[in-house]
Amino acid sequence: MKSTEPPTEFGEADRLQTRADGRFAPSPSGPLHLGSLRTALVAWLMARSQYARFLVRIEDLDPQRSRPEHERSQLADLRSLGIDWDEEPTHQSQRLRLYNDALGHLHGQGVLYPCFCTRTEIREAASAPHGALAEGAYPGTCRRIDAMTRRRRIESGERFALRVNARSAQVAWHDRLLGEQRGTVDDFVVVRADGVHAYHLAVVVDDAEQGIGEVVRGVDLAESTPRQILLQRLLGLAPVSYAHVPLVISAAGTRLAKRDRSATLADRDEPASVTLALLAHSIGLASVRDRVESPVELLPEFDLTRLANEPWVLS
Ligand SMILES: [Zn+2]
Repeated sequence: MKSTEPPTEFGEADRLQTRADGRFAPSPSGPLHLGSLRTALVAWLMARSQYARFLVRIEDLDPQRSRPEHERSQLADLRSLGIDWDEEPTHQSQRLRLYNDALGHLHGQGVLYPCFCTRTEIREAASAPHGALAEGAYPGTCRRIDAMTRRRRIESGERFALRVNARSAQVAWHDRLLGEQRGTVDDFVVVRADGVHAYHLAVVVDDAEQGIGEVVRGVDLAESTPRQILLQRLLGLAPVSYAHVPLVISAAGTRLAKRDRSATLADRDEPASVTLALLAHSIGLASVRDRVESPVELLPEFDLTRLANEPWVLS
C-alpha cells in the first residue's frame, strides 16, 4: 500500500504541475447515483495518487433545488465508500462575496451586459442559425440594445440577467480524457434574472480560491469548459487541468436517472465493498476482485489512461 505521506522532494514533473489538488462538487438536489460516485472516486484517486488535497464543495447556489438532507446523504454515501476529504466541505451559498468581487472585476472590464430575454425568446433566438456559434447558443440579442433603451428598461423595473460579452472567443484546451478540445464561447449568463450567481462564475472563482489544479467531473460539463476558461482569463486566474469522465448509462442505453433501479447506494442494498469493486472495475482497476474494502487499495494501480473513453453501461 502506498504511503499517504507527502514526498519530501519534488521532481521536475512535480514542479511543472504543483497544483494537483482535486475536488468533488455535488449539487445537493438528490441522492448521488453511481455515475456521480464513480466520478468522485476518479477525482479522489487522481488527487490522492499525487499526494494532493481533496476537497468537497457543496454547490447549493440554487435555493429551489438544494436541500440539506440531500447534502447529508451525499456525504454519507462518499464516506461509506471510503472517499475522504480535507477540511470541512465548503458551501457556495456562503461564498457570495467572492462571486460579487469577481463580478465587480468583470464589470470594471466592461464585459457584462443586461439580458432581458425570456426563456421563450432565448429558445427561439437560439434555434435560428447564426454563424460560428453552436446550436442552442445565445446569439447576443441584448448586446445590440442601445445604451438609452437599456437604461430605460432597467429603470422601468424589467428583470434581467447579466451576460458576458464573449466576442465568440475560440478556446482550446487539452483534456486528460477527451484529448484536444476546442469550442466557441457564446455570451453566457453569470447572474440569473432571479439574482442567483450562475454555475460558471461560481465554479471558476471557487476552484481558483481553493487552489484546485485538477478538475475531474462528468463529461456532461465538458461543453461548459470553454466558457469557464474564458472566465479564468478575464479574471486573471490560473488555469486548471481538466478530465471529463464518461457518462454512465443504463442497460437500456439511456442516461442514468434516479428512477433507474440500482442507481444509488440505497437502491443497491449491498456491502460498500461490492459497489466499490464494481466502480473500480468500471475504471479499469480491480479486474479480478469482487470486493474492495477501501479506495486506498486502488491507489497503486490507478492510471487515468485506463479509463475507457466511452460510456460505462451499468447492467
Ligand atoms: Zn437577451
